[in-house]
Amino acid sequence: MSEPVIITSENVVCSGKMQPLGLVIKEGRIADILERSEIPENQKVEDFGSSVIMPGLIDAHVHINEPGRADWEGFETATLAAAAGGITTLADMPLNSSPVTITPEALKEKQNLAGQKAHVNCLFYGGLVPGNEEQVESLLKAGAAGIKAFLCHSGIVEFPNVTSHELNAAMTVLADFQKPLLVHAELSALPDHEKQTDPLSYDQYLRSRPQQWEVDAINLMVNLCKKTGCPVHIVHLSSVMALPILKKARTEGLPITVETAPHYLNFESEDIPDGDTRFKCAPPIRERANRDLLKSALMDGHIDLIATDHSPCPPELKEIDSGDLIQAWGGIASLELLLPATWTALRDQQVSPVNLTRWLAERPAELLGQSHRIGKIEEGMEADLMAWDPNATFTVNAQDLQHRHKITPYDGMQMQGKVQATWLKGKRVYG
Ligand SMILES: [Zn+2]
Repeated sequence: MSEPVIITSENVVCSGKMQPLGLVIKEGRIADILERSEIPENQKVEDFGSSVIMPGLIDAHVHINEPGRADWEGFETATLAAAAGGITTLADMPLNSSPVTITPEALKEKQNLAGQKAHVNCLFYGGLVPGNEEQVESLLKAGAAGIKAFLCHSGIVEFPNVTSHELNAAMTVLADFQKPLLVHAELSALPDHEKQTDPLSYDQYLRSRPQQWEVDAINLMVNLCKKTGCPVHIVHLSSVMALPILKKARTEGLPITVETAPHYLNFESEDIPDGDTRFKCAPPIRERANRDLLKSALMDGHIDLIATDHSPCPPELKEIDSGDLIQAWGGIASLELLLPATWTALRDQQVSPVNLTRWLAERPAELLGQSHRIGKIEEGMEADLMAWDPNATFTVNAQDLQHRHKITPYDGMQMQGKVQATWLKGKRVYG
């Protein structure tokens, strides 16, 4: 039996507030929670002073791409980045790897690779594509945390989008299991949208993926949710035009959750230079006014969680040299920056570490069906923890980040909030 360790600070986020506490870590779990005055003198104590201690962060939306496209990103580098960012659990999306995760065999291959290489916990979603509806049940039985589908082209040929026909079939099964369908909510059926002709123009890129695509997709998903009772999770919401539909559905009690990503909270289209493909993602980063309303919606509780949608690729595919926004891979690399990017973006909103704990740990744990073991600091929970200094500032240097290709739109940005240490089941994995 290993000797217990006590991790302490004046600001431990526990039971919805920050408190001076000591966490007794034993056998990989939080065995006891003590007042600071109760900490025995003869115990091994790691004191983090006034730093904040929170549950290990959970990033519910990551593209690792291994096997098959490990030259884009792999388990080793992605999970090192996660650990350095205070993230102790991530959930990997079923596309960009090859094979895509649309069969239990492909899922097992991912699970095995993670078992050999990962530095943090990895969970996996299965994928829904036309023709694999009958695999949904076996994917869930093999451990998929949910099933992901696209309503528009995914960018990966082996992962085509679905229609309401496949959605109906899959959602009936998911409803039985009470597991979520995760949806990339852009419905590109709109005939009159503007096509991009100038490959360098960010403004044209933005207008080629209008907010109405998100609105139409979310309307469709609300209807299917009502019909099937399947829990629906809208990934990376960018459009505030879709918020009233979501609010109404949630008020009616429909099981719909929604996430946004740090890049939608930090950047604004007015400031994105033409030809800077690092900012290309889908749905796109929109105008300043939209960004500010997204922040308010988060603070008001209309958005459940924040996930990075870390989706890197090699510099050639990102068209870094050409600046071609039509050809460039749509995806932003930011896994390690989840916490400081969120904290920095919301400094003007009276945000507190208690909010961050909800968006970056508690709610993701609920989405992933893991809230019985991770996502909060409570006696008996796994000792997945992180410590950070909310006042420390730093300048992002992409070269210092752990993910494979050192490309990110956050390069050179001044940020606040520095991760100091990460523990996985009580074992220090960073800091
Ligand atoms: Zn994604």
